[in-house]
Amino acid sequence: MVARAARATDLADLDAAVSDCFACPRLVQWREEVARTRRAAFRDQEYWGRPVPGLGTGDARIAILGLAPAAHGGNRTGRIFTGDRSGDVLFAALHRAGLANQPTSVAADDGLTVRDLRIFSAVRCAPPDNKPTPVERDTCAPWLHREVTLIRPTLRVVVALGAFAWAAWWPVLRAVYGQPPPSPRPVFGHGAHWSGTNAPDLLGCYHVSQQNTFTGRLTPGMLDDVFGQAKQLAGVD
Ligand code: SF4
Repeated sequence: MVARAARATDLADLDAAVSDCFACPRLVQWREEVARTRRAAFRDQEYWGRPVPGLGTGDARIAILGLAPAAHGGNRTGRIFTGDRSGDVLFAALHRAGLANQPTSVAADDGLTVRDLRIFSAVRCAPPDNKPTPVERDTCAPWLHREVTLIRPTLRVVVALGAFAWAAWWPVLRAVYGQPPPSPRPVFGHGAHWSGTNAPDLLGCYHVSQQNTFTGRLTPGMLDDVFGQAKQLAGVD
């Protein structure tokens, strides 16, 4: 799997390769079981039921790093943050920021495009309870590392959605940028900002999950501030 990731010469090649990954037995079993049993509201739909690749442009200056696809979101539609409440909040904010052409993301063929942006997750398969194991996180890391390598020439800012994504960024520094992570590691928080040398800036943002958005812990204004800062740091108009 590591070798397959390393061989990917462009994002299309990487996306195709990751979509065909079976490296984590528990997650393969779960993603396929969810696709078989389905949620009642989606019973008439064919679920994707496979790893969910990244979304966005090869010349991205901003990246958004999430945790993992949602069982009935990305695992259903085949596109990250597509078809669930988290995506509703995220793409509405990206549209306000001028980084997405439309405020909704409901299906892989809905016409959504983004600019200056790549969105990916630390783990590419939907995990039970949204909780990958440390082994699954580490097994999946080469896909993330290769994806960052491919957009490294333009990438300036990474927005980590939640503490899991924040922690998943540090191994990228060594794998892609050839430098040790800071010690001690900067603590995750909403609005946290780590500025490295010869590596993208890292911004912390509460995850766009319902637990945060329905409770008001993460508001649209807070997301606007984060993406405004990301654009400024990345030099995106
Ligand atoms: S989580 Fe990652 S490494 Fe594991 S099966 Fe899915 S794509 Fe492969």
